[in-house]
Amino acid sequence: MALVPTMGALHAGHLHLVRSALNAGHAVAVSIFVNPLQFNDPKDLAAYPRTLESDMALLREVGCHMVFTPNAESLYTGFNIRHYQLGGLDSVFEAASRPGHFQGVVNVVERLFHYVRPDVAYFGEKDRQQLAVVQHVARTMLWPERIVGVPTVRADDGLALSSRNVRLSINERAQALVLYRALRKAAEQAFRSTPAETVQAAADIMATEPAVALDYFALADPATLEPITDWEDRTEVVALVAAQVGPVRLIDNYTLSR
Ligand code: AMP
Repeated sequence: MALVPTMGALHAGHLHLVRSALNAGHAVAVSIFVNPLQFNDPKDLAAYPRTLESDMALLREVGCHMVFTPNAESLYTGFNIRHYQLGGLDSVFEAASRPGHFQGVVNVVERLFHYVRPDVAYFGEKDRQQLAVVQHVARTMLWPERIVGVPTVRADDGLALSSRNVRLSINERAQALVLYRALRKAAEQAFRSTPAETVQAAADIMATEPAVALDYFALADPATLEPITDWEDRTEVVALVAAQVGPVRLIDNYTLSR
């Protein structure tokens, strides 16, 4: 049985994870739980969209077999929040900007696995560092569940689908496209100029939208997410970006291939 953990406000990206699991022949459970432990900004938690009824309708339509919608008390009662070793993954990128976020993610994944007992769990590459963190913990803690990553689903214009996008105004939605343009620029430049020049070219694109506040644009090893300064003989590198657009912090990433 496959589990697709989500926080609800489902969109085509989530449904793609469900379809991927169904196509692999699994019975599929989706969990919908807005996990307070992984929010470091109480305003972000309060504003997080909650659309359970339409989520259930979408899941029924796509052929999902089971839905798990616990509340925080039942999920965490009698459970001591744990601290997990995340290797270097808890000091870079999202971890640096959102202290405690990935500890909250791993705790909830552990709790969800405890109740649902899946054989395999599907996660989106959209949250590249989250996928790397869960894969790291599953490997080092010898979790029996297999962790599968699924490519990012984008709108026709390239914006990565995200539940937070509904909080963008029409203007902000248009400005947010600069993240994808910067990632594409990096994909063009990569391996032809130095990593520093590639990052600079992407940062120049980001600067064309002054309303978008860049948090980081970086290149990293696809497996460990260690920042890179040299291409060496790598054939793939991942570009990661985070920026504030209006009320929303957006993240995206793109795999750059030789
Ligand atoms: P969330 O509800 O935001 O916690 O996301 C639940 C799962 O859906 C996570 O594994 C995400 O990485 C994945 N996901 C979110 N957006 C997308 C997307 N645009 N494409 C593919 N997977 C996604």
